[in-house]
Formats: sequence, C-alpha cells, structure tokens
Amino acid sequence: MNFVTDGSATTDKKISLKTEICIIGSGAGGAVAGFFLAQAGYEVTILEAGHFHPPGSQEGKSETHIMATLYEKSAMQMNASQDVMILQGRAIGGSTLVNQAVCYRLPEQIADKWTMDHQVEGKTLADLSQYYEKVEKVITPKITPEQFLNENNKIAMRGFKENKWNNGYMKRNTSHCVGCGSCPMSCSIGAKNSMDRTFLPMAHQAGAKIISGFQATEIRLKKNSIEKIVGKVSNKDKSSFEIFADTFILAGGAIQTPVLLQRSKYKDKSGQIGKNLIIHPFIFPQALFDRKLDSFKGVPQAVYSFEFAHFGHKELGSILLYGDFEGFVGSAFQMSGVGDNFGENLANFRHLAQSLVIINETARGVITASASDYKIEYELTDRDRETLAAAARHMGNVFFSQGARKYFVGNKEYKNPQDLQKISAADMEPYKINIIGAHPMGTCRMGKPENSVVDSYGKIHDLENGYICDASILPDSTGVNPQLTIMAIAAQIAERIDLKLKSRGERKK
Ligand SMILES: Cc1cc2nc3c(=O)[nH]c(=O)nc-3n(C[C@H](O)[C@H](O)[C@H](O)COP(=O)(O)OP(=O)(O)OC[C@H]3O[C@@H](n4cnc5c(N)ncnc54)[C@H](O)[C@@H]3O)c2cc1C
Ligand code: SF4
Repeated sequence: MNFVTDGSATTDKKISLKTEICIIGSGAGGAVAGFFLAQAGYEVTILEAGHFHPPGSQEGKSETHIMATLYEKSAMQMNASQDVMILQGRAIGGSTLVNQAVCYRLPEQIADKWTMDHQVEGKTLADLSQYYEKVEKVITPKITPEQFLNENNKIAMRGFKENKWNNGYMKRNTSHCVGCGSCPMSCSIGAKNSMDRTFLPMAHQAGAKIISGFQATEIRLKKNSIEKIVGKVSNKDKSSFEIFADTFILAGGAIQTPVLLQRSKYKDKSGQIGKNLIIHPFIFPQALFDRKLDSFKGVPQAVYSFEFAHFGHKELGSILLYGDFEGFVGSAFQMSGVGDNFGENLANFRHLAQSLVIINETARGVITASASDYKIEYELTDRDRETLAAAARHMGNVFFSQGARKYFVGNKEYKNPQDLQKISAADMEPYKINIIGAHPMGTCRMGKPENSVVDSYGKIHDLENGYICDASILPDSTGVNPQLTIMAIAAQIAERIDLKLKSRGERKK
C-alpha cells in the first residue's frame, strides 16, 4: 500500500492547502500523534521534508549512498567546532527508519527527577504506562531471540556476566527480524516496526494525508495564533506551499523544530528555544580477537549492561554499555590507526569486536538558526570526557576478560588489562576520537512558562493553537534510548489535544 503522496511530483508553482490539524515531521512524535488524532476523527495532514523509502528500495546501494539519502545533512551533521557528529533521519518515518530499534521505558529515577526538577505533570511511570502500552501494542518491542545474537554480542554478554554486572538482552521493535545487521541503513525486509511500517500507514488508513518532500520553512503568526505554515517543495520546479490549519503540531525533531521557530522570528518569554541540547554522546571502542567473529552479521545492538548507569545521579556519571557493530562503513570509520597501521587493522576486520559506550552527559548545547543554515554549539565538559574514558576502561575489561589480543580506543591501542588505566579524559579531547550523538532532545523543553517552551502536554505556552510533539520537548535526558518515551508522550499529547478541542466545541465534523 502506498500511503504517501509524493509532494515533489507536483508541477504547480504554488500550492495552498487547508486542513484541521497540520503536523510537521513524520518521525516518532509526528507519526504517533498523527495516527491517534486521525483515529479520533480529525482531518490530519502530515508534512515530511524527506522522502518515502519502502523496504528493499536501498537494496544493492552502497552504505555511503544510503546514509546520504536517509540522514539529515547526508549523515554529516556536525557541531560548530566539527568534533561531534549528530545523527538524525530525514525521511518518511524520521529517525525511526534508521534507528537500532532499541526500546526502553523511562527509568523510574529519571521520571521522578523530571517531575521534581522540572515540575512537569503526567510524567510519572504510572501516568505514562497506559500510553506506553498503546504504543507497544503497535510496534511490539520484544527480546532479541538467541539465534540472532552474533559473536560480538555474545562476547559482551559473557563479559558482563563474568564481571557480575547487571545485564540484559535488548527489547527491539521488530516483527520478523532475521538479524541481517543493517538497521542503520533501514530494514530491507521491513522487519523493523518503524513509523513508516506502523503508525503512518495506520494514520493513512484512518484518513490522514501524508505528504513527502514538503519542508516547512516558516510559521506565520496572527496575533497569538499560528495562521499558516509556508515552505518549499523538494522538486526541480522550485514550488512553494502554504498550509492553513486550526491546530499545528511541530514534530521535526530536536534540531529542526527550534530552527523552524527561530527562522520564523518567534520568540517566547522563556528564551529557551534552541537551548539545553542533550545528545547522549557515544564512542565505539573495538577489540581484536584471534578467531573470526564476523560481527557485522546478526542483530547489531542486542545486549546491555546498566551497571554504571546511576540513573538520576548526575554526579556519578551515567554510562550505558552496549554490544554493537555498525555495518562495514560505520565500523571501518571507527577503526584505529593511520596508514599501514590502519590497513593492518582493516585486514583484521572479520576478527573485530565492537561496543557502543554511551553516556548521559552534563554538557548542554545551543542551536542557533540563520537564514539558510543553523549552528549547533555543543562541547563536552571535562567531566563528560572523564565519564567516556571510564566507560572505555570498563569495556576494555570486558573484552580482555574474553580473550581480546588488543583493544582500540580512538587511535590508541592497549595490549592488556593493566594498560587500561592509561585511558583518560585527554583521549576524549576534540579530534582524538570520533564522538557521535543520535538522541538529540530537550531544545524546546516542557515545564513552567518562565523557563520552558511548552507545557507538560506539548502546548507552546504563548500560542493558542501551536503544539510541539517530538524529542525537543523532553524536559531533560531520558537516561536511556528515547524513541519509546517520545512515542508514549505523543500519544498522551494527542489525547489532550482531542479533549481540549472537544471541550471547546472546536470540532468541525
Ligand atoms: C542512527 C540512529 C539510531 C538510533 N537508535 C535508537 C534506538 O535504538 N532506540 C531509540 O530509542 N532511539 C534511537 N534513536 C533515536 C530515535 O530514533 C529518535 O530519538 C526519535 O526518532 C526522535 O523522534 P522525533 O519525532 O523527535 O524526530 P525524528 O524521528 O527524527 O523525525 C523528525 C522528522 O521531521 C522531519 N522534518 C524536520 N524538519 C522538518 C520541516 N521543517 N518540514 C518538514 N519535515 C521536517 C525530518 O525530516 C524527520 O523525518 C536513534 C537515532 C538514530 C539517528
Ligand atoms: S537486523 Fe536486519 S532484519 Fe533485523 S530489523 Fe535490523 S535491518 Fe531488519
């Protein structure tokens, strides 16, 4: 079923549309809100800047080509000083199309911290549980089956267990996963229950219109309401569009939503739009084994240890340890060495194990839009560099306990467990190691009007008919991977919007 209208196929120079509810962005937030509102009977239109890439459409293409096609800025979105990469999807389904499918509910300590520190309502685990259930029923997170665990994940798991560290097999939102190992390139057999496979076709079935290739560029205001959104169509004819609606929901993700508001010269009283950026920075330490591992086969991210997670205790430095291998280009990109040394390591590719160590950082970034681009100012703190170094030391112990011959962190190699003490914050300094983030959040955070952009249910404080429903509204770090929580909060926001419109008698139909 083709549930997407290809907006870029238009030959009209100027398009004018009208709908009851207009949603900008088709990722975790936009798709879920779109479905529940369409199901409640509203006329919903979802606009997406990226294109539709059905399962199999990337078959036979190179990883570099796929990343350039499916990711924001061709997967080269960097911070201002060019030492941290921030990944996001740009496609029907948003980042859920290319993500690792890992699903966690919010840890209880984090939910309690949100409630206490940011005075948000309705975000305790008890409050959110009915919305998690609604979402989980559709995307079906399930424990990764044993047969799809590759040697890479088995090594990590054995290491966690021998160290007597807390551990588990990841829940992933998949249905008939065969463990091909290509999640970040999208799923060629459609086994990942990303938004393009679940909530978006369901929204379409319930009457929503989903248009690809339509990028919103500006919000036009009339008094304290949004009158319309204007934008450009990604076609050669350079068409433009405007869309009028009674209610607007911004769901472009934690980088693009503040950019859209800033470009529209919208300023709120809190001054927080674009601030408080969190990304969950990570690195990929690797280890060389004598035996062949072929880590690129099997489910990429399948096991975890939260032994050092310390959720809710900022001062302890929160670390998540994952078994993870990222395909050929992704993992070769992380390999240690230059010149001959790099060549030697590349020749040993089939013997490499890899982990993803991810931290809950103390750094907070700022996004500032210009007319045609945007700047992401984001620098790790000294404390974050030390936390990353500690994470690398922990994972080194795991790999050496399982017989690794060498352990690589950035461009340095370590030959035994005693060596690991040499890994320090200095090794995490700019340009010494690839630091990546794929969980941007917090840049239009929820809370009280004086220090936040939206209320606890996504309504922009100062705008009558404007909502935000994506990772930008999270009040603080989710502690763990965020997609499930973004979806649950989107379901909650959709319910609130429905109740509000009905109570005001603003339903047209
Ligand atoms: C490689 C990778 C791996 C990840 N792995 C996991 C994981 O395993 N588990 C997990 O929980 N999370 C994971 N994440 C993060 C998770 O996918 C995101 O947190 C989540 O999808 C964010 O939801 P969102 O709605 O805020 O934005 P997105 O899902 O990113 O969707 C935003 C959409 O809006 C569109 N858009 C933006 N601006 C405009 C505009 N002006 N006009 C029209 N359209 C616009 C974008 O093109 C995009 O498609 C991963 C992310 C990446 C990139
Ligand atoms: S491992 Fe392969 S089959 Fe399984 S969800 Fe990822 S891309 Fe799809």
